[in-house]
Amino acid sequence: MPRPISATLSLSALTQNLNIIRGFAPESKVWTVVKANGYGHGISRIWRSLSSTDGFALLDFKEAILLRESGWQGPVLLLEGFFTAEDLVTVDQYRLTTAVHSDWQIKALAQAQLSQPVDVYLKVNSGMNRLGFSPEHAGTAWQQLRELKQVGELTLMSHFATADSVEGVDAQMAAVNLAGQDISGPRCLANSAATLWHPQTHHDWIRPGIIIYGASPSGEWKDIAHTGLQPVMTLKSELIAVQELKAGDRVGYGGRYQASGPQRVGVVACGYADGYPRHAPTGTPVWVDGIVTTTVGTVSMDMLTVDLTPCPHAAIGSPVELWGNHLPVDDVATACGTLGYELLSALSPRVPVSVTDH
Ligand SMILES: *Cc1c(COP(=O)(O)O)cnc(C)c1O
Repeated sequence: MPRPISATLSLSALTQNLNIIRGFAPESKVWTVVKANGYGHGISRIWRSLSSTDGFALLDFKEAILLRESGWQGPVLLLEGFFTAEDLVTVDQYRLTTAVHSDWQIKALAQAQLSQPVDVYLKVNSGMNRLGFSPEHAGTAWQQLRELKQVGELTLMSHFATADSVEGVDAQMAAVNLAGQDISGPRCLANSAATLWHPQTHHDWIRPGIIIYGASPSGEWKDIAHTGLQPVMTLKSELIAVQELKAGDRVGYGGRYQASGPQRVGVVACGYADGYPRHAPTGTPVWVDGIVTTTVGTVSMDMLTVDLTPCPHAAIGSPVELWGNHLPVDDVATACGTLGYELLSALSPRVPVSVTDH
């Protein structure tokens, strides 16, 4: 018997999520973001279920090549662009679309020998201060790129820092509009949060990531619960032991949890080496045998413990869901002070993954 932990991916949820996203932005083309190996789901497992997308966006050359070698012939966008001038050989060979965010990249393009023009996303820093040209400099950079024979279609791109919060996107949209005042060309701005909540950002192309996988860009499941978006990944395991505690008994490393009276706890075959966060505090929700209960004590490498007080019928072999269909990953992430993004993309390679059509 293999260790009982596994993850299942719902391929129909992926396809349905993409359709729902198109409903939010019916006039826009969609870059489906599959960076970090498809937010931990595995690009090779999922991309065919998303092949009605207009393109895939990612940032790792290995992942771009994997998509091409698996048969995807449509557009592939490098969100961070190329990292060295030599990378342009790969950009050319695999017909990738590339972000350009720095002057050195324009120079590298000007000097490159390419077999065909490369499509470029000119990245504007509209306030996040990670990548991109300042709004004041964007027009010049656009002109420089426009004059290069190495450059094909040009698109203006920016990324939002606060599209998921009450602050919204107004200040960054003002910066984008300043950058784009003398630029007529397609625009690509919206991440998941802007796709759902800021239709004025949709323009020609959107770039949804987390909502493809059925988790919330705000970290709160309630914010997307009404949309029809469905979790794609379910991480499940089983109880492999049950302990009957007496008052004062402690659980796990550091003895951080202490029973205040008689209590049944279950031991689940899932730990931080599977991608479950070690910093999950006592009280993190876990679905056990049809009931949402909570973790108790410290998560170990291969096991965690759960309170069975609300689950009187639970026994060795009872099913456990760490997140997925019965328990939104957002609820687990909130209890751990993080986001579904981090939990999904940290799924460990040691967890066996299977796909289902439903
Ligand atoms: C990750 C990323 C996205 C997608 O973000 P979500 O919040 O997952 O929708 C879009 N654009 C860029 C540049 C990104 O890095």
